Amino acid sequence: MARSLREPEKLLFEISRKNHEGYRTPANDVGDVPVGIEDAYLREDIPGFPEVTEVEVVRHFTRISHWNYALDDGLYPLGSCTMKHNPRINERAARLPGFAESHPLQPCATTQGSLRLMHELEGYLAEITGMDRVTLQPAAGAQGELTGVLLIRAYLTSRGDARRVILIPDSAHGTNPASAALCGYGIEEIRSGPDGCVDVEHLRERMGKDVAAVMLTNPNTLGIFESRIQEVCSIVHDGGGLVYMDGANMNAMLGLTRPGDAGVDVLHLNLHKTFTTPHGGGGPGSGPVALKKMLAPFLPVPVIEKEGDTFRLRHDMPHSIGKIRSFQGNFGMLVRAYTYIRTMGPDGLKEAAETAILNANYLRGHLDDVLDLPYDAPSLHEVVLSDRTLEETTGVKALDLAKRLLDYGFHPPTVYFPLIVKGAVMIEPTETESREELDTFIRAIKSIVAEARSNPEIVKTAPHTTPVRRLDEASAARKPRLRWKPE
Ligand SMILES: *Cc1c(COP(=O)(O)O)cnc(C)c1O
Repeated sequence: MARSLREPEKLLFEISRKNHEGYRTPANDVGDVPVGIEDAYLREDIPGFPEVTEVEVVRHFTRISHWNYALDDGLYPLGSCTMKHNPRINERAARLPGFAESHPLQPCATTQGSLRLMHELEGYLAEITGMDRVTLQPAAGAQGELTGVLLIRAYLTSRGDARRVILIPDSAHGTNPASAALCGYGIEEIRSGPDGCVDVEHLRERMGKDVAAVMLTNPNTLGIFESRIQEVCSIVHDGGGLVYMDGANMNAMLGLTRPGDAGVDVLHLNLHKTFTTPHGGGGPGSGPVALKKMLAPFLPVPVIEKEGDTFRLRHDMPHSIGKIRSFQGNFGMLVRAYTYIRTMGPDGLKEAAETAILNANYLRGHLDDVLDLPYDAPSLHEVVLSDRTLEETTGVKALDLAKRLLDYGFHPPTVYFPLIVKGAVMIEPTETESREELDTFIRAIKSIVAEARSNPEIVKTAPHTTPVRRLDEASAARKPRLRWKPE
């Protein structure tokens, strides 16, 4: 019988056959070597351990790898994730032996090139964001948030003005309240207005002496630019608090606007989003934090300093919040982001942002007649649509649409987020997609909406062509089967 690559793959335990060997060790020609463990405790065999040949192992993992949809397969329109192409030149730079084989414990005199790269990268990120200083240590966006909130706490505490509350708009990314809570702050929500932006009047009413900071995602998770950000900053500053901006979605702002100029005090960036370093399973991530001068004494150690033409690591920072991550963070990602910035140049980065915005609006212009557009403010990096009418008229929901897209060969967009939109479908195409790819995606969505009208069952029971069909996501989360047991 012909075997399809889409067929479920058996586990290695199930493929195992007695005496299938992957590797044969040469016969012992040195006699008995005392190992200090009594024979009774040395086992000949590991019960149940799979016995497979090398070719079986290679094919097993290669087949499984084909199930994995990747950015290198096609459009990956996962909103708020900025899944954009990872240029291969970044990989070449990161593999240069001087970078790839350096060790973080080498004396600084022998790692001047790496230190210079990091120092220059800090400078570029400060310039791009309009901030004074940058730390490259955090390993992800959420860890950047934690770092930023710790900086705010250290700064306010040093002024004898420790405050307890952080205000977060309801359109913020979910990691924001989590990071603030991890630092011991109480969280209070600020409403969005009908335009999808933070309700400035609500913020003004709530701002008070107990408020340490406001954490603002900009552009927010509706893909909308917080156009009153300067007003937000002055309200918070007048009330003695600081403004944290979640800059994970900086892709739509590069070269167009700088958060530092608008009054933001501290923000994080996601190199694995905006700056094209691999994302998800291809990671690790990197979430540098940019800050204004008054927060600099609290930077995580060590700080990279330039003295004349040499670079050194400074550890003696009495007010530092300490270490956030081992060594300098995920250095390989820093090399990739540096390479990206250098290959693009200022004009290239600006063009990337403009094209990202254009692509999101191109999708919006073609899809707002088949899905609802809950907020009509201009879209930046992504467009958020809703399943409202589709569900009312056909019973097909955002989740069904997402699952059916798998049959059309696309990774689905983010669904049901942000929470303030009913049945949200959050699409972020990024600038690296061609118009042809976007058109294919638009045709797929339109065709699924047509199916929802003519044959809703096919959509509701999708996917039909994947090795694993529709999962019960609630029990997958609540009753995970973490261990394989023989039947
Ligand atoms: C992705 C994202 C984060 C979290 O970044 P991680 O690197 O996944 O921790 C935070 N905020 C926003 C707006 C994001 O899009």
